[in-house]
Amino acid sequence: MKNLKVFKFGGSSVRDAANIKNVASILQSFTGRPILIVVSAMGKTTNALEEVVAAQAARNGKALEILNSIKEQHYQIMSELFDPGDEVFAAVNDHFVTVEWVLEEEPHENYDYMYDQIICVGELVSSTIMAAYLNKAGLPTSWLDARDVILTDDIYREGWVQWDETVEKAKAKALPLLEKGGFVLTQGFIGSTTENATTTLGREGSDYTAAIFSFCLDAEDMTIWKDVPGVLTADPRLFDNVVKLDRLSYREAIEMTYYGAKVIHPKTIKPLQNKNIPLFVKSFIDPKGEGTLISSDVEDHYPPMVALERNQALVYISTRDFSFVAEHHMSVLFTHIANLRLQVNMMQNTAISFVVCVNDIDDKVDRFAQHIQGDFKVLIDRNLELITVRHAQPAVLENLRKGKILLMEERTKDTVQMVVKNVQVVDWKEVG
Ligand code: ADP
Ligand code: ASP
Ligand code: MG
Repeated sequence: MKNLKVFKFGGSSVRDAANIKNVASILQSFTGRPILIVVSAMGKTTNALEEVVAAQAARNGKALEILNSIKEQHYQIMSELFDPGDEVFAAVNDHFVTVEWVLEEEPHENYDYMYDQIICVGELVSSTIMAAYLNKAGLPTSWLDARDVILTDDIYREGWVQWDETVEKAKAKALPLLEKGGFVLTQGFIGSTTENATTTLGREGSDYTAAIFSFCLDAEDMTIWKDVPGVLTADPRLFDNVVKLDRLSYREAIEMTYYGAKVIHPKTIKPLQNKNIPLFVKSFIDPKGEGTLISSDVEDHYPPMVALERNQALVYISTRDFSFVAEHHMSVLFTHIANLRLQVNMMQNTAISFVVCVNDIDDKVDRFAQHIQGDFKVLIDRNLELITVRHAQPAVLENLRKGKILLMEERTKDTVQMVVKNVQVVDWKEVG
């Protein structure tokens, strides 16, 4: 669609009433043109909902209690934005009731399925509240259920987009709303199977949703509104002396985000690159700031950039019968890795051994080990960090290694990667 902009507002930009008002004031300056807005759940709602799911699965009787406190937080925010009789209260309540029904039943045997049916309420209520507030603020906005557009396979918690169907649905459902005029607002992170079961796209997946809509509707550009001025050379929460990058190629962006630069979800770049749609990363605190432009224009010089990914595991695998790993076993190992959707970050092999560094989330690494234990000796080293440095300089690397034990390293032309363990400083002084 000509002139279409896609905006994504993440959890921190809509975390409370003041921030919701701030989003409305940013949008005020974009009235009169087609804008599709994607919002995440407010603040840390998704983390809290994960506790609801865990409590339900554990049958510990706490699920409803946790859900009620999430509900309370939302009602508190709504009471700061709307009159008591506003119909938004009933609409939000309806979404929560759907989850209450799930909680009344026995925990579903498929944890991931149950997770998606519960977790989606975070985005459903935040988008309901945001759309209602924009309408109240005089910015006509249509609410769109992303599950009517984004079709995925049935791998819950990590649905893969069915692109042809999604493109078709986006044109059928979102375009008419956009053509009507006003904003269209939808949820990040959620989709649905062809059987109408809710799925999610993986944690922090709202950026990806915005990119899916941008791709399907041929957006002119996409903007992610963040609490930072743009993409920085490293996470400011972890490193000092970071600087903003004014421009970045798709290539740089995809390499850094794949290895843990949390500012953009790694799957976001591909759909945009495929259609050459520029991506802006801007600050919702300073919306006039220039931000970072990510596009196909290649900058030939970058400063050193660092991404740090925690919760890494090194899985050491060796053959029991001394057969060569590379000749006989790689395809079997990778079949398991692919089936589990395990993210491989680094790997090395010798004659009879294979070491792989993977994201250690949920119980995937244990499941991987269970599958292969019969044929291989398996050792797992957990709680590791993966440090990825692009355009490294020796002093930067030296600094990064301080206080760490280096377990594995790999160097290519532009990238140095290290799997490290933090040196434990044990305070042995007796207490008392
Ligand atoms: P959202 O509200 O959209 O969910 P997030 O909190 O997930 O936003 O992402 C923004 C955070 O990403 C920033 O506050 C920052 O700490 C972190 N971050 C990590 N790496 C970078 C980077 N290279 N540049 C900027 N921010 C980064
Ligand atoms: N709310 C989801 C999460 O916290 C998706 C997102 O914020 O992007 O993971
Ligand atoms: Mg986020």
